[in-house]
Amino acid sequence: MKDRHNHIAVIGGGFGGLAAAYEIAREGAARVTVIEKQEQLGGLAGSFEAGGAKLERFYHHCFNSDRHIIELAGELGCGDRLVWSRSRTGIYLGGEFYKLSTPLDVLRFGPLSLADRIRLGSLVPKARRVRDYRDLESVTAEQWLLKLCGKEVYRVVWEPLLRGKFGRYASEISAVWFWNKIVLRGGSRGRAGGEVLGYYRGGFGTLAEKLAEAVRAFGGTVRTGVRVKGLVIENGGVRALQTTDGLVEAKIVISTVALPILAELLEGAADDEYVAGLRRIRYLANVCLVLELSEGLSDIYWLNVNDPEFPFVGLIEHTNFQRAEIYAGEHIVYLSKYLEPGAELYQMSDEQIYEYSLPHIERLFPSFKRGWVHHYHIWRSRYAQPVVERHYSGLIPSHKSPVEGLYIASMAQIYPEDRGINYAIAQGRDIGRLAPGALGR
Ligand SMILES: Cc1cc2nc3c(=O)[nH]c(=O)nc-3n(C[C@H](O)[C@H](O)[C@H](O)COP(=O)(O)OP(=O)(O)OC[C@H]3O[C@@H](n4cnc5c(N)ncnc54)[C@H](O)[C@@H]3O)c2cc1C
Repeated sequence: MKDRHNHIAVIGGGFGGLAAAYEIAREGAARVTVIEKQEQLGGLAGSFEAGGAKLERFYHHCFNSDRHIIELAGELGCGDRLVWSRSRTGIYLGGEFYKLSTPLDVLRFGPLSLADRIRLGSLVPKARRVRDYRDLESVTAEQWLLKLCGKEVYRVVWEPLLRGKFGRYASEISAVWFWNKIVLRGGSRGRAGGEVLGYYRGGFGTLAEKLAEAVRAFGGTVRTGVRVKGLVIENGGVRALQTTDGLVEAKIVISTVALPILAELLEGAADDEYVAGLRRIRYLANVCLVLELSEGLSDIYWLNVNDPEFPFVGLIEHTNFQRAEIYAGEHIVYLSKYLEPGAELYQMSDEQIYEYSLPHIERLFPSFKRGWVHHYHIWRSRYAQPVVERHYSGLIPSHKSPVEGLYIASMAQIYPEDRGINYAIAQGRDIGRLAPGALGR
């Protein structure tokens, strides 16, 4: 039997789990096994097939400041697959489409007075002046935006977006979350001032596969289609994982799943108060309707929909970012909605979501015809977006848990960053360097 004392088990084959395993295997620090419940790797950034090519289930791009993805792709010998393109951002408001990609677009933004357009345009430079996010920890996004941009800009541009994304939590969202988004996205620009975004040719799921290949090449194991059902804890320390494919003994476990999932896995095995604490951070779910169309809807890649009647907050036309030829000429459109798991839209069947959405798409794009739809796909994620509220730093569990040998590296812990493949990689690699220290050899 293989030695449990030299074995690290990683729960989750998303970018966080794979990056942790890569670091452990590359350093030869221990025997490492990744256990992923789905058949595919990549987690939230995983792919499916559309138009004969790999495509993310949930829309994905990266920013030119995402150095951890760039470095990792370079190490894996596939840096040339990261491609950078101009992207067009827009907003749908009061029945009209407006471009909002460049400073000039902001200056031409009709729904606001000139003074308010200048206020809107000055947000990114003002946000960049914030040096320490902790200065914003006790402020809500709403308070911060009202102060920086004024009432009208908030009412017209930001409030509908916050409401669309966070629903009833909108007024609780921390200024830190918003500040981070503005600085990150506002910073991913080309020389001409327009937004530049990155994509992994072949889909980010392919990068996850490449990372798994590297884990295996360094002697690690990656198992898919195996779900972890619980942790076996003895004398306050990790002993094994119970999985749908039997017991996996390990001295160290790295969990990269959402915190409430970890709480379930620890239920009854770890301290009740600690387990309750893992449930403190609230998460929104997400549902994405992905359409494969014979025609494009517009020339905008990222469309924010500031219309309370429209059931989705964003319409992302992927093939205005990557060429439709990659997908056998299909035009790929994502309609995305963050919501609570009890929400009607989340509970509907795939067909109901599709049928429900069509009249709304027809309203926004009167030339759209149902016959354009060759295929549709619905993807749901229960733990898609942590609700980043004020004083969020106080809610984050530390990477080293009170259970000896259990480390946690989840999407909710990368604060002040928000979610992102880049930060999943960075955090995973950090934990992959840290955890083997506890093997005590
Ligand atoms: C709608 C949407 C759009 C996004 N867009 C972008 C974007 O444009 N750019 C970007 O960088 N990021 C984006 N993200 C965020 C990005 O996908 C995540 O931050 C990143 O993929 C998180 O990686 P992770 O490994 O930490 O977690 P996850 O990807 O959630 O990985 C956790 C893994 O654990 C597995 N798992 C769960 N329970 C078990 C169990 N019991 N046993 C075994 N395995 C289990 C899951 O199947 C999953 O594969 C987006 C996310 C969403 C939801």
